[in-house]
Amino acid sequence: MSKNYETVIGLEVHVELATKTKIFCGCSTAFGGEPNSHTCPVCTGMPGSLPVLNKQVLEYAIAVGLATNCEITRDAKFDRKNYFYPDNPQNYQISQLYLPICKNGRVEIETGNGKKYVGIHEIHMEEDAGKLIHDEWEDCSLVDYNRSGVPLIEIVSEPDMRDAEEVIAYLETLRMLIQYLGASDCKLQEGSMRADVNLSVREVGEKEFGTRTEMKNLNSFRAITHAIEHERERQIDLLEEGKAVVQETRRWDDNRGYSYAMRSKEDAQDYRYFPDPDLMPVHVSEEMLDKIRAKQPEFRTEKIERYKREFDIPAYDIGIITESKHMADLFEEATALCGQPKKVSNWLMGETLRLLKEKNEDPEDIRFSPKHLAQLISLVDAGAITGPVAKEVFEKMFEEDVDPEVYVEAHGLKTVHDEGALREVVEKVLAQNPQSVADYKGGKQKAIGFLVGQTMKAMKGKADPGLVNRMLKEMLEETAK
Ligand code: ADP
Ligand code: MG
Ligand code: ZN
Repeated sequence: MSKNYETVIGLEVHVELATKTKIFCGCSTAFGGEPNSHTCPVCTGMPGSLPVLNKQVLEYAIAVGLATNCEITRDAKFDRKNYFYPDNPQNYQISQLYLPICKNGRVEIETGNGKKYVGIHEIHMEEDAGKLIHDEWEDCSLVDYNRSGVPLIEIVSEPDMRDAEEVIAYLETLRMLIQYLGASDCKLQEGSMRADVNLSVREVGEKEFGTRTEMKNLNSFRAITHAIEHERERQIDLLEEGKAVVQETRRWDDNRGYSYAMRSKEDAQDYRYFPDPDLMPVHVSEEMLDKIRAKQPEFRTEKIERYKREFDIPAYDIGIITESKHMADLFEEATALCGQPKKVSNWLMGETLRLLKEKNEDPEDIRFSPKHLAQLISLVDAGAITGPVAKEVFEKMFEEDVDPEVYVEAHGLKTVHDEGALREVVEKVLAQNPQSVADYKGGKQKAIGFLVGQTMKAMKGKADPGLVNRMLKEMLEETAK
């Protein structure tokens, strides 16, 4: 390649808000459910039905705007975006074009190259569409309107990103802010966060941006990274051959690792936007703003600082724990209950992360309660169960949040501290391992380790290792006389 190219990327991110009901009616937003069971005349676009804005949607959108340093539009409006598609029963989508709720924000991201700002052009509120199900077996297409009217915000960035690493850092920053606000769970795989990537290339030093394409259908960070690298190469190849990049929407096929054109700008529809006459303009009062500001949570940077002051745990642990609001809450609540931040942190950093990875789950998916983790720690501290038994109980807790006290009791996992109960087992181990006994008596102190191990094994981990050690020593000394 003769020339040096720079990639320019801007994102349009859709986030499904965590409201109980839809944006313009009282239907449930719950995922799943019988097709078309969460519907009413409003969200199925029946003539004569009238939308009413869900106030929680407005509050979440403003909260996200404040967290991303946006200006809040005090008099916002909704507009109709007209298009025909069977998943859109009104033949228009209610969105915001002219006066979006938030504008001109920015978020700070951090990559291997340091910190930088990514500008937020705007954030607007809109409704989601239904879902088409193409049934090849029955040779028909079915439609499910349960998702129709689920509230979305669309966060439109400035074209400020230059590579995949910055894009991922930006998405992770947004995801964290929004999860901390409780405004959405932001799961890419489940579609509660969706990113469209706009990308162009230009020669380094060039002032104007190149022609961009937009890529859709990116539902993992891995897919986003691949799509960006691939699209950059494709555009550079075109330019090198003296051809032009066509402004178009492309669909990324992550299994095949390539993208294909969906529609070009020439096919772009004229959406004939106009203000929705059925909805009142939205006025955001000073009072409402103050209320939302007062409810903003402690965000990650502040939390990190506070943890450093309050808890004696490594900075590395703090970094990981605070990446997830859910994990941070769990940490704080368990610590408040058992008073042992280091031990709580160890369970999170060790077994929890190991099991999440093994099961390919996110920290947001953790199911065990802080109370049960605190109880488990107390059981170990009190000597009621041993380390290996605690791990076994923890796995059960991780899977189905069992109560550790109840589980230990029901499965007879309590540590045996009673010499009388252990004596028989220790004697048996000594009888079965004459070589180790001889080694020990011959001066090889280390041989006792093996004997302790055999006893613990015979006890299925449920014996007090200190006590076993002492008993073994005593009994070996006795027989030596
Ligand atoms: P449209 O009105 O066609 O949707 P916008 O101007 O709203 O276009 O931009 C949509 C997204 O594309 C924004 O996130 C923006 O940052 C990004 N974008 C715009 N121009 C470029 C470009 N030349 N290269 C990369 N991204 C771009
Ligand atoms: Mg746009
Ligand atoms: Zn409805």
